Amino acid sequence: MNYQSFIGLEVHIHLLTKSKVFCKCDSAFGAEPNTHVCPVCMGYPGVLPALNIEAMRMGCTVARALNCSIPERTWFERKQYFYPDMTKNYQISQFASPLGQNGYIILEGENNGQKINKKVRIKECHLEEDAGKMIHTGTVSLLDYNRAGVSLLEIVTEPDMETGEEAELFIRQLRRTVRYLGVCDGNMEEGSLRADANVSINTPGAGLGKKVECKNLNSSRFVRLALNYEIGRQAVRLDEGKTVVQETRLWNENRDQTEPMRQKENAQDYRYFPEPDLPVFTPDAAFLKTVDESLVELPQNRIKRMAQQYGLDGGQIDIIADEKEEADFFEESAKAIGLKDGAEAAYKTLANYFLGDIRGYLNKNGLDARHIRSLNLKPAGLAGIVRMQEEGRISSKTAKKVLEMLLADGGDPEAIVAKNNWEQIRDKGTIEKAVNDVLAAEAATLADLKKAKDEGNAKRASSLTAFLAGKAIAATGGRADPRLVQEILAGKV
Ligand code: ADP
Ligand code: ZN
Ligand code: MG
Repeated sequence: MNYQSFIGLEVHIHLLTKSKVFCKCDSAFGAEPNTHVCPVCMGYPGVLPALNIEAMRMGCTVARALNCSIPERTWFERKQYFYPDMTKNYQISQFASPLGQNGYIILEGENNGQKINKKVRIKECHLEEDAGKMIHTGTVSLLDYNRAGVSLLEIVTEPDMETGEEAELFIRQLRRTVRYLGVCDGNMEEGSLRADANVSINTPGAGLGKKVECKNLNSSRFVRLALNYEIGRQAVRLDEGKTVVQETRLWNENRDQTEPMRQKENAQDYRYFPEPDLPVFTPDAAFLKTVDESLVELPQNRIKRMAQQYGLDGGQIDIIADEKEEADFFEESAKAIGLKDGAEAAYKTLANYFLGDIRGYLNKNGLDARHIRSLNLKPAGLAGIVRMQEEGRISSKTAKKVLEMLLADGGDPEAIVAKNNWEQIRDKGTIEKAVNDVLAAEAATLADLKKAKDEGNAKRASSLTAFLAGKAIAATGGRADPRLVQEILAGKV
């Protein structure tokens, strides 16, 4: 039978605040266990939390980027539950007044062969503290509280998605957005972006079904796989006349299937109540101004604009603008080329260097595209190479050589080309003389060429012409502009 499916995501992102959300501890990932802790995040009695305003600002920036409204008053609640990774036995979170409300994003693109264009409503974004980390090794369980109290933003969608592909695209778009905003590194393996995926199916028109929550999805691909698996599993149950059990399931990446983890009692009661130790936060005009100032041109808009502005295809720009740093580098270089004629061709050449040589260099050196600024190559240098190449002053081969030099040691391409005498010869008189000398010296070849032309043997004629052009270029020490040599030669034979 045909069913309608409903998918809603709950995405947690670690905000890149230097310190934790309610204390001054360092929030960096990867330190020695239990070194980034203090009485507040260890939940000692009698200590007082204090809101990290930077976490609130980053949270509100994400909210704005997701078209959410920020309420006039926003506060925190205690969410009570007992678990060893929660030192206080409650988590400070937001319940009644999330900092971002009623937003949406437009999913746009193609994923796994599916064309997608869909509005997904964002129910809310709320700020909370992360829990510690439990590590189970054999019969021992270890606890690392470095993560306890790290700023966490939870983004909750309405169940507006229908396929694993849409959910994966949502995560990818969100990840790119928060990286552009500089508020999260989006690293799913390290857990700085975590997604829980809720899914149900039902007969068309019957509304939401019984929801299953999938956890343990530490890559966007697993989100897609788990959801598509789950939609299939639930359909089989309904086809067989069974019902779907409302439960939490885990994705088992070794068996490519979801497996039951726990049955969720009807709506857990966390006994939320307002956190008495933190005042209500009232975003004032000055605060909201800093939020607006943190907004950048968002990736989806930027990719569209860049494709149009530089006449490049969407696929290329999608790669070049995946990271904001690289997109910035590209646009600075493009601007510095400064060609009036042939700008479009120059942008294509520039894009090819980004997708080819520069990417290759980054990969070879184990560098992320975000580190493009740390290269010895700078936008002005790159622009110089492209400009000289497009003006015909250097050959594409020389351009590549100079690019390699700049990647290795930096420098000024004009100076490098001048010093090595690599500029192409484009003086017509000089080239004409070289061509005439070659034609005089190669009388037999010239005769062959004429014969080939008379016989209409185009293949042989073009290979003989190439031979003569090669000789003429060699006579100039390899420096004559091949286009001009071809042109002048063509006028003579
Ligand atoms: P809970 O109270 O169990 O946390 P919420 O209403 O807060 O549930 O929703 C959590 C997530 O589950 C949201 O992303 C929401 O869109 C999604 N969701 C809720 N009900 C369903 C359903 N029946 N089918 C699919 N997704 C659902
Ligand atoms: Zn602390
Ligand atoms: Mg919920």
